[in-house]
Order: sequence, then C-alpha cells, then structure tokens
Amino acid sequence: MVWDMQYEITALILIGLFFVFYNLQKSLPIRKNIIFSDLLLMQFLCIITDIIAAVFSSYPKTFGYWHQELSNMSYFLCVFSLYYLFMQYCRYLTGDRLKVLVGRQWWISVPFWFAEVICVTNPLTGFLYRVDETGFTRGSIFYELHPAIVVFYSGVSLAFIFHSRKRIPIKEKVSLVFFVIVSTTAAMLQIFVFRYLLLINIGCSFSLAVCFLSMQNPEFDRDQKTRVFNRDAMFKYLGEKLIFGKHRYRYVGITFQNYGRLRAIYGSGIMDKFLNRFGIFLKKHVNNVMPFYLQSGEFLLVLNSRADKDQIMEQVKEFMDKGFCFNGQKVKPKAKFIYMSEECDVKDGHEVYDIIKFSLKKIEKDESNDICDIDDRMLAELHYSIKVKDALHKAVDDDAIIVYYQPIYDSIIGAFSSAEALVRIEDPELGVIPPAAFISLAEEDGTILRLGNQVLRKVCRFISEHDMDAMGLKYIEINLSPIQCMNRGLAKEIIDVAKEFNVDMSYLNFEITETAKLDIKDLNLLMDALIGEGSGFSLDDYGTGFSNLVNVLKLPFDIVKIDKSVVWSYFDGNDIVLPRLISMFAEDDFGIVAEGAETDHMQQTLQEMGCDYIQGFYFSKPIPEFNFIEFIKEKNISRKKVVFE
Ligand code: C2E
Ligand code: MG
Ligand code: MG
Repeated sequence: MVWDMQYEITALILIGLFFVFYNLQKSLPIRKNIIFSDLLLMQFLCIITDIIAAVFSSYPKTFGYWHQELSNMSYFLCVFSLYYLFMQYCRYLTGDRLKVLVGRQWWISVPFWFAEVICVTNPLTGFLYRVDETGFTRGSIFYELHPAIVVFYSGVSLAFIFHSRKRIPIKEKVSLVFFVIVSTTAAMLQIFVFRYLLLINIGCSFSLAVCFLSMQNPEFDRDQKTRVFNRDAMFKYLGEKLIFGKHRYRYVGITFQNYGRLRAIYGSGIMDKFLNRFGIFLKKHVNNVMPFYLQSGEFLLVLNSRADKDQIMEQVKEFMDKGFCFNGQKVKPKAKFIYMSEECDVKDGHEVYDIIKFSLKKIEKDESNDICDIDDRMLAELHYSIKVKDALHKAVDDDAIIVYYQPIYDSIIGAFSSAEALVRIEDPELGVIPPAAFISLAEEDGTILRLGNQVLRKVCRFISEHDMDAMGLKYIEINLSPIQCMNRGLAKEIIDVAKEFNVDMSYLNFEITETAKLDIKDLNLLMDALIGEGSGFSLDDYGTGFSNLVNVLKLPFDIVKIDKSVVWSYFDGNDIVLPRLISMFAEDDFGIVAEGAETDHMQQTLQEMGCDYIQGFYFSKPIPEFNFIEFIKEKNISRKKVVFE
C-alpha cells in the first residue's frame, strides 16, 4: 500500500516556515513561548517521521523490518507527545488553575507515559502496530490507545480552557478550541475513516498556524518604535520570574530629561527615530540585560547576575553624548538613571513598574541628579502614594470626598466674609489625607473631574442648607484645577449644579492657579460664562509660577491671592517685594488676599500693608463643615450680632 502524502508535504512547508520565522525572531523567554516553540518542533518532527515511516512502509521489501519499526515508533512517540504538549500549553496559558478539579495533576501525565512505553516496547509486543514484509498494519490495541490519547488530552485541554474562560482573551480562547476541534477531528478521520490519508499533521499544523497568528506572533511582545520588548511583555516576564521562579533581579530605569518638552520641540517623528536608535543600541550593545520600553521615553533594563550596572550606565551615557542628527536637526537628550537593587522585595511586574515609573518621574524633574538609587524612603513614599490613589478612587466612587472650610478674614469690615473650600479624604488606615497628596494623582488620571464635581455639589449643598447672608458670608471659594478648566463643558456643569441646589451663582467664587497648562482663550470663555451668572474669580497662588502671568492678569479676575510662600519670605526677611506687590494690585483695583498668616503680628502687618482679606492658621486652619459653622457663629456673632437659626 502506498500512502497519500500530499497533506504531509503541505504541512511540512507550513510548519517549516513558521518554525524558521518563530526562531529567527527572539521571542520573550517565558514558559508559554518555550512550550509553543517545543510544539512547533514536535509538529515538525511528527511530519518528518510520518513521511519517513510512510515511505518505509510503502516499500517494505526495500527497507526491511527495523527501518519500518523504528520510523513508526518515532512517529507514534512524536504524535502522542504533540497532544500532550498541547495540553501543557493550554495549562500554562490558562494559568494552571484547575487544581481543584484535578488534584495534584500528576495523573494527567500517566496516559502519556503509558502510551510512550507501549511505543518503545512495540517491537516486543506489537500491540500498537505490526510491520513485516507486507508493510504496516495496526496492532491489537491501536483502536483503543490512539483515540484514547487524543480524546483524553483534547478533553483535558478543553477543561483547562473552560475553567479559565473568563480570564483568557476571546482570541486565545477561540484559537485553542479551534486547535482541539480540528486536531481531534483530523485524528478520528485518519484512525477510523480514511486510514491511508495522513490527516493528523495537516490538521494540527493548520491549527498551530492559527495559534501563531492570533497569539504567538513574537511581534505582539515588541514595541514597534524601539523594537525592544514592550510593557505588557515586561509584566508577563517578571510575573513569571518573580512569582513562579522566586527570582530576584536588579533593575536600571532610564528616562530622558524633559522628554515631554523635547517631543513638543522636535516633534514626534524625530523623537520616535531617536527612540528607535536607542532601542537598537540597547538590544545590540548592552549585554546581560533584558530591555523593555515602558512608553513616554522610559526604559527598564532587567539585569542578570553577570551585568555590571555602572558599566551599563557609562555605556548609555557615552552613546547619548554623541548626540543624534535627524533630517538635519541635532538632538541630544540627557539620560537619567534609577537603580533598584535585589534587596528591594518586589512581588510582580506591576510593582516593579509602579516603583520604576514613580522614581523615573521624580528623577526626570531633578536637575541636580542624574543617577538615583531607589531607597527605603522612596519605596515608602511610593507605597503611600499607591495607598492614597486607592483611597482617592474609593472616596470618589463612594461620593465620600470631604470638604473642609478655611475662614477668610475681611480686614475692611473686621469679620469673616468668605471661606475657601479645601478638599480632604478620610481613610481608615491613613487618617485625613491632605490635598497635596492626591490632587496631582487625580489630575494625572482624570479623576479630578469627578472630584471637582463632588466638591462643587457639596459646597452648593452647604450653601443651600445655610443662610449665607445671616452668617455674614459673601461667597465660598472653590479651587478649579487647570485640568477641569480644559473641559469646555465646565461652565454649564457648574451652572447646572448651582441650579439643582437652588444656589445663586454669586455665592460661588472660583480660584484658579496660573500654570503653563492653562489655555487663555478657553479660560476666558469659562470666566465670561460664569461671571455673566454672577460668580467671581480669584487668581490663586500668586508668586509661585510666572509662565503665563502677563496674559493671565489680563483676564477678568477680581481678586489676587498672594501665595503663603511670598508672605513667609517677607516675614523671614528674605524678600521685600510684598508691600510693593500689594500696592501694585491695589492700584489696579484687585481685591487682595494674603495667605499663610500664622501670627498676630503677621495679620496686623498684612492689614496695615493694605490686604483686604487675610487667610491663615492664625484665624483658623481648614475645618470640617460643622466646626466651621460653629466658628462663624462665634466670631461673626460676637462682632456683628448676627442671629442664626
Ligand atoms: P490653595 O488653594 O493655595 O489653598 C491654601 C492652602 O494653604 C491650604 O492647604 C491651606 O490649608 C493652606 N494654608 C492656609 N493658611 C495657612 C497657614 O497659615 N499656614 C500654613 N502652613 N498653611 C496655610 P491645603 O488645604 O492643604 O490645600 C493645598 C492645595 O490643594 C490648595 O492650595 C489647592 O491648590 C489644592 N486644593 C485643595 N482643595 C482643592 C479642590 O477642591 N480642588 C482643587 N483643584 N484643588 C484643591
Ligand atoms: Mg486656593
Ligand atoms: Mg493658594
């Protein structure tokens, strides 16, 4: 009998191509990829041995007994291994969570080893197949053993996929199920129906090609700009090494000073070319490290035990010192490094990522430092900021943001005529968290929009529940973040909330801090809309930033709040501009608030200088709503004899 080998040849070409392509590109060295590479190799061997066995068995007289026996034995060893390996592949891919179902899982391997022993002892028993001068015939347990192995390992693979169906992406799930169905069907057809058609290998090869294209392409783990492994690959790699392998590594993080600004100046085209060159340099010239690109111009190098971190940093510096020329433009970014030793106890890739990102952000801004070792203080800061972020998200989700009020003293009428709303989070573990710890985090991930809305609603509720006029309060000041001001719908949102609580807009005054982020045109529109409804605006933190100030002062602010740092420098004797500032703003008819008055002497002097309003711990710290009402009742009643409900 001559076997039909057209399918085998097609499968050989298909798998040969994928095998070469897969091994030419360095794939991420994680178990899943190693098993897939083994699968491709096993499939390749399966086809080769099947072709050889088929040729030998087609011409039994020419090739004799042992050629037939050994080639068929090799084929069956490979084909059982293929199904077994695929099951192992599913097992790793689905996270090996079937412990409950299959106990310690040792018995999964029993059928495989049993089948392999049957193969190896076949020359003695002839159970699986027989070969003689007439060629190949199936043995006494062929029809039981072969389908049993296929069905068992396909079934276990399906069980793994089913058990982890919610955790694995749909694309992976479909490819795995496809493999199981196609490979099982091909095996059953070959065993029971078309016994001289070699269908198993074409079925498995085709399914492996689908797996390759949908989830095993090494390109999925690479960053396209830099050609080094990407961030997700880093999570997979470190997840496996740190969790399963319990390895400890040293890490070097690399960033470029003022990367954002460089991108704005030179454009993304040029900066991407630079990143590409840098990535290729890391791959080709920096030894004993595994480089990853974390986005935003930040790289992570995972060092192996032979790597010398000082030498690596030197090598990178040397490379950067040369500068780069693209389209006639010279770019010379300055590299900055952070180093994390194996003493830092990290549990997975996400933790490494958080630590590295946090430290890189810090060092990027640090003009004086190019290299920074991650120490316990930094880790403690990071852990605190992670906890704060969780507390922030929880508070915003639960509508549990708390508004404190700091009274503002009106030196013209000699009473407290307004207050600033200052946000706080109360956390069971961290206590009262001040805004300095979470406003920038909220700005980074956009939570500030929901946070700002909650502050506004809470202030409006406060105003609607109390008689502001009777308390002697003209308005409450609400801080607006520049990120909120970028939202074109903000004016409408504020007006709608005020309407909902039946609050007159003149009871609201908004504080805006001058920063480079502010778009003057958008801000002007926002201010016009709210001023039209009766609200006022204060320019906050005057003296802390000057990037946009000349333009900002042309906007319709009616109050300037002089930052406490300016006030303190005057009283410390370091700076004498304060009186001149106050008279300058007074001439321009701005109302003036001085922040940070902590002593009687300070508030007296500020009054004498001509500050209309004074805010500071001398009068009161920011306090919860209830205490604020008590405070106002006591202070304003005793002066103005105002009666409260
Ligand atoms: P800010 O708007 O400049 O608020 C004044 C800050 O100075 C408050 O800090 C206040 O407690 C503090 N302060 C006032 N007088 C004194 C004093 O005499 N001595 C000292 N040592 N400090 C004084 P706080 O409450 O920690 O707020 C910090 C910043 O957080 C605020 O600065 C503001 O920029 C921001 N912030 C607070 N609440 C909000 C909010 O609801 N939305 C937004 N976007 N930002 C907010
Ligand atoms: Mg303020
Ligand atoms: Mg301020």
